[in-house]
Amino acid sequence: MQRFESGASEFPQGCLDKLCDFSGFAPDYFTKPSPEFPNPKGVSFRSLRSLTAVKREEAMAAGAIAFEFDDWTSVKYDRPQHDLIHPEGVSPAEAAAQLRAKWGIGLRPIGNVINLLEAHGIRVFSLVEGTRHLDAYSLWRNGTPYIFLNTTKTAERSRHDACHELGHLVMHRHIGSTHPKAEDEANAFASAFLMPPDDLLAETTWGMMLDQLITKKKRWGVSVSSLNYALYKIGRMSEWTYRGNYIALSKLVQGEDSKEPEPMPHETSQIWAKIFTDLWSRGISISRIARELHVPEKQLNDLLFGIAGKQNIPKERTLTAI
Ligand SMILES: [Zn+2]
Repeated sequence: MQRFESGASEFPQGCLDKLCDFSGFAPDYFTKPSPEFPNPKGVSFRSLRSLTAVKREEAMAAGAIAFEFDDWTSVKYDRPQHDLIHPEGVSPAEAAAQLRAKWGIGLRPIGNVINLLEAHGIRVFSLVEGTRHLDAYSLWRNGTPYIFLNTTKTAERSRHDACHELGHLVMHRHIGSTHPKAEDEANAFASAFLMPPDDLLAETTWGMMLDQLITKKKRWGVSVSSLNYALYKIGRMSEWTYRGNYIALSKLVQGEDSKEPEPMPHETSQIWAKIFTDLWSRGISISRIARELHVPEKQLNDLLFGIAGKQNIPKERTLTAI
């Protein structure tokens, strides 16, 4: 493989066929100039660190396909420029409050996190790499922020993950996200961004029990477990009640962290949906784009929340300038 990559020797056709069968990539993919992969040093590595090398490479390969597609769409569609801020020397909760103020959302609950991020210029792609250990990752590329989200989690978990990555993009752009406190900071940012402390205090009462949390969590679109923890941290709940709720929740979901009582529907991308609606109206399908970019159609569709494969175009027309 090394020699093939360096171009020092021809790759036997039989092997190339097998490689294509195995990977789903077209032969052109292996002969075109190397695609741009995310630089692992610039990636928020929360859970990537615990992945096997193969899974980590899959996640990075997904990033490379996303870059190709993103560049392709950038030529054809205008999208918002990011307006993220980089407050320094403030707590994660203060950073979250400053970003909310900058974005004009005050203390209001966030109806759809993905749409909010997209409206502020963050490119959001979905990952379905089939590993429980990969939640999300984020990075800066040429001044554009990217977030990759595992969409097989509950919607509440995905929203938290998206805001956790937002915290890395805001707080750790210049210092990196590998320092020991980065994960705690990103989690604290996510919690305060989704549940502004002042709103949390205004909307809750002392010592809320599990059934009340299940009702109340819907206001902020967070998991019961996040709300329980946030209320404990903010002093709205004794440790005794916090632990009691935790145990009651574990019983309710039978010890499966992946389950959420009364879950909310999954979020999806509005930008990719709009772009594909336009592309379909022009007779351009994802198959065609995948062929043009020499990337596997399934992997591309997986990155786009499955939106792109939802509509079958009866007959492809000739590609016209967009
Ligand atoms: Zn992280």
